Amino acid sequence: MGTATIATATMKVAQVPAPRAPFEVVEREIPTPEFGQVRIKVQACGVCHSDSFTKEGAWPGIQYPRIPGHEVAGVVDEVGGGVTEWKKGQRVGVGWHGGHDGTCPECRRGDFGNCRTLQVPGISYDGGYEEFMVAPTSAVVALPDALSDVDAAPLLCAGITTYNALRHSGALPGDVVAVQGIGGLGHLGIQFAHKFGYRTVGIGMGPDNAARAKELGASLYIDSKATNTAKALQELGGAKAILATAPSSKAMSALIDGLAPNGRLMVIGVAPEPIEATPVQLITGSHSIQGWASGAPADSEDTLRFSELTGIRPMIETFPLEKAGEAYARMMSGDAKFRVVLTM
Ligand SMILES: [Zn+2]
Ligand SMILES: [Zn+2]
Repeated sequence: MGTATIATATMKVAQVPAPRAPFEVVEREIPTPEFGQVRIKVQACGVCHSDSFTKEGAWPGIQYPRIPGHEVAGVVDEVGGGVTEWKKGQRVGVGWHGGHDGTCPECRRGDFGNCRTLQVPGISYDGGYEEFMVAPTSAVVALPDALSDVDAAPLLCAGITTYNALRHSGALPGDVVAVQGIGGLGHLGIQFAHKFGYRTVGIGMGPDNAARAKELGASLYIDSKATNTAKALQELGGAKAILATAPSSKAMSALIDGLAPNGRLMVIGVAPEPIEATPVQLITGSHSIQGWASGAPADSEDTLRFSELTGIRPMIETFPLEKAGEAYARMMSGDAKFRVVLTM
């Protein structure tokens, strides 16, 4: 019989088959980049707490099976039609910003990060827990040579979020800036705050993190279990900005009284409960609470360049792609020091 066999190239992926189901490692056909897309040979992908949106089915409209992952570092492997700005062999990454439409009111003003139809890798389309990933060019970030794939990956979500939130916090060099939570986000936040020239205060639970916080660049550490944190911050004159990274709304609420006049609580840790503040707490001293989500690819490139320039690196634990389930459990345990990264 003249049956022609067409060899289909396959790749390994770690996918979530259904909400709350365990990860499964399967073979899939290697995707082909369409017009305006690139295909990336993934070398490393960070495991972020926000991957739980996909894993636990907490984000409306996700289609399963879905491959999570929005801290992707790799090499352009193929380009689709119309792609001229990215070349095969170029080192690139993709972060939380998975593509924008270019046409909504925010995009028309250049505010791509707040695109009304912002796509997120691992949510809107398959992310980086796989050997080959396809992404639109509006999501692609150039990686500097000095950063390895495993170091660059966490900077594309945890890194950019802390970096961008701090640089938009209104705090100036020399100001008191506190970073609440010494974890996946906080350990980067402290490094950025220190290198920005802030008088950096690390806030953690218990005495164990004191040495680590100082090592990362904090000039002071507050143990929120043993100390009234707001009072301790007021003794320093109050914080011009507090970067709230630990996913506890209660802990965040307790920080508001630690703000300096015009101080801002920058919220980047995700928690389901409401943050509580009385109008008087906000009115007195003109305090504000602001949320911050990541940024556009150009902001990611700023983050990477700044990290290259100042020697900032994430502290990581690596797992092979096959152990995505284990890696995810390790991240969710909160015990990882400090970011978990899959390698392909
Ligand atoms: Zn993330
Ligand atoms: Zn838009």
